[in-house]
Parts: sequence; C-alpha cells; structure tokens
Amino acid sequence: MKVIPVGIWGGYPKAESATSSFLIEHDGFTVLFDCGSGVLSQVQRYKTLEEIDAVVVSHYHADHVADIGSLQYHHLIASYTGNRLPKLPIYAHDRDAEGFAGLSYKEVTEGRAVRPGEVYEIGPFSVTFAETVHPVYCLAARFEAGGKAAVFTADTEFFEGLAEFAAGADLLVSEANLYEEDKGRAPGHMAGSEAGGLARLADAKRLLLTHLPQAGDVQVIKGAAMEAFGDSTELAEPGGVVEI
Ligand SMILES: [Zn+2]
Repeated sequence: MKVIPVGIWGGYPKAESATSSFLIEHDGFTVLFDCGSGVLSQVQRYKTLEEIDAVVVSHYHADHVADIGSLQYHHLIASYTGNRLPKLPIYAHDRDAEGFAGLSYKEVTEGRAVRPGEVYEIGPFSVTFAETVHPVYCLAARFEAGGKAAVFTADTEFFEGLAEFAAGADLLVSEANLYEEDKGRAPGHMAGSEAGGLARLADAKRLLLTHLPQAGDVQVIKGAAMEAFGDSTELAEPGGVVEI
C-alpha cells in the first residue's frame, strides 16, 4: 500500500498547497481521502483526476470538502467533451443530510453513506470507520489491504477508543493541529504530544503528522510527538510517498 500526502494544513491552505488530504493506493486502485481547499489543484501533481477511483470524506467542514464541487465540475466537463468517466463514488457519513446530498451530482458522482461498525469494500481496500471527538460528527478511517493497515484519525481530540481503532496500524496518519500551549483552547484537535501518545498506545509502527497549523514552527509539534512515540515520527510531506 502507498500513501501520498496531497496537503498537510488544517483549516485553510498556505500558498501553493492544500488542506490535509491523502492518496491511498493499492493494486492500481486509488482513493482520495478528504478533498478540502487546494486539493484539486495539488492532487494533479501526483495523479490525473481520471486516476482517482473513489473518494472518502471524513466530515463536512470546508477544509475537508471544499473542492468536492470542483471535482464534480471536472467530471461534468469530461462528460460534455465526450470523455464520460465512470460515476465516482464518494463515501461519507450521512448525519449531515445537506452535506451528504451534495456528494451526489448529476450523473458524475454518487454519495455512499458509511457508518462505524460496518466494513466497506472499496476497490482492494477493506475500510472501517470510527466516530471521533470533534465539534461536528466526523469519522476516522482504517484502510486495510495486502496485510497492511493505514489509519487516518481525521479531526479529533485525543480519546482512548481511537487507540483501539488504530491498534497495530502499520501507518498512523494523525492530526496534530495544536502547539502544546494551545491544548484545550481549540476544541476537537490534538497537540503533537497527544498524537505521539496515541501512536504509542495503538502500538503503531509509523506516525505521520498532518492537519498542521500555519503559524509557528511545525518542527516543534514533531518534537512533541517524538517525545511520546520516538523516531518513527514524521511530518507529512506533500508528494512524499510512504510505502507500507
Ligand atoms: Zn479540519
């Protein structure tokens, strides 16, 4: 399995970049996990839009869905110009009825509802979900294929149940949106030490930090995570292929 960071920012993208988003590949099948601001532009550095076989969305905040509409326009324009693509499935929860309805658009994309406790076969991946702790309903996702597991926390505070969900992950992609001094100030997010603690509790093999803040020196967040989890801690780097 390959995981390719597309964007690494929480909330909004810095110049020439994108909000937190990842390509997940196995056996020639490609999933895009989250599609917020800047993602549609940046993902084309690594894949053509035709190569995306499915999309999974964690929740309906703009930094996770802002570019869904542009992706739909891409597929619509392709259909107008004689290059109709297979209908693109977009997997997400349907607790936000309006948000979920927006995932289905003409004949080009189709929302597919997911919920915790079920297993979804998406291409070669078996995918499961867990509710996180965030101001809106949000799902973490676990992708398994070829005997490997990659777990994406999406947006969340730390809670022990998340370590159970991420148990034994070959790769844990964790949000780390906060500096230590901001812990508790911004609800629904983790500091580096919490992401590291989560990886340690889950007994993950590698930790990749994402959903980073624009201000300050994010190396400080990496340092806080490393104190808890050790050397197998990295900041997600756009385009940096992670093979597991
Ligand atoms: Zn977010």
